[in-house]
Amino acid sequence: MKRKIIIIIIAIASLFTVVGIMITFIGNDVNKNENSQLIYHNMKTKLFVFNPFQENTYLLISEDNECILIDPGCFEEEEKERLKAYLEENKLVLKRVLNTHLHIDHAFGNSFLFHRYGIVAEANQADEPLLERMKQQAVVFGIEGVDDAIPLGNYLNEGDKISLGDIELEVLHVPGHSPGSLVYYAPKNGCVFVGDVLFQGSIGRTDLPGGNHDELIRNIRSKLLTLPDETTVFSGHGPRTTIRDEKRYNPYLK
Ligand SMILES: [Zn+2]
Repeated sequence: MKRKIIIIIIAIASLFTVVGIMITFIGNDVNKNENSQLIYHNMKTKLFVFNPFQENTYLLISEDNECILIDPGCFEEEEKERLKAYLEENKLVLKRVLNTHLHIDHAFGNSFLFHRYGIVAEANQADEPLLERMKQQAVVFGIEGVDDAIPLGNYLNEGDKISLGDIELEVLHVPGHSPGSLVYYAPKNGCVFVGDVLFQGSIGRTDLPGGNHDELIRNIRSKLLTLPDETTVFSGHGPRTTIRDEKRYNPYLK
């Protein structure tokens, strides 16, 4: 009898342990993308994962606590609040907002940032028609409540340089996923922000208006795979990768 009770107690304890471990793993899985703050070769980067598309929004922070936001995907009020609170708590001054491209999931927050901070987003002109069709884009995905689009503040083109304190970015035009897809390369820091051009083990979809598969592959090969192998690639969705790994393992680039 005593042995039975002990076995039952052990069984219950084991069950709690297993459930506890599962919860820990599930919790980690949800949060694994949104690390507190990452530092790459002296550039501070904060990642937010926003909106129903799980889009990666990157905040680049200079040594003077000024920052550049790449692809503000904040959509829900809670997401806008989370971004605002992070800036306030860390005493950061937002200076520029850059879009890699103008699919809704990467530009949901453009209006919010304009109204809250007076900063107008910058992107490539070839994607401007997408901005004008923000609400129609959203309807396709069953999303309502998208803010009115704010016209772009500045057009960015291949070869443009963006600097803020110690942050230096070079603009590369890599169309194919969208006509105006840009990537922002930080040569000093050995990293590149590619939006939806390239993912770990995959490439951007090309079935949306303005997409072109062959053009995308050609541009990835000529403009991204020619960057140093050790360059860290920050994509618009999912985990980061490196140019080396994509050259080796990406099935679309074989
Ligand atoms: Zn996209």
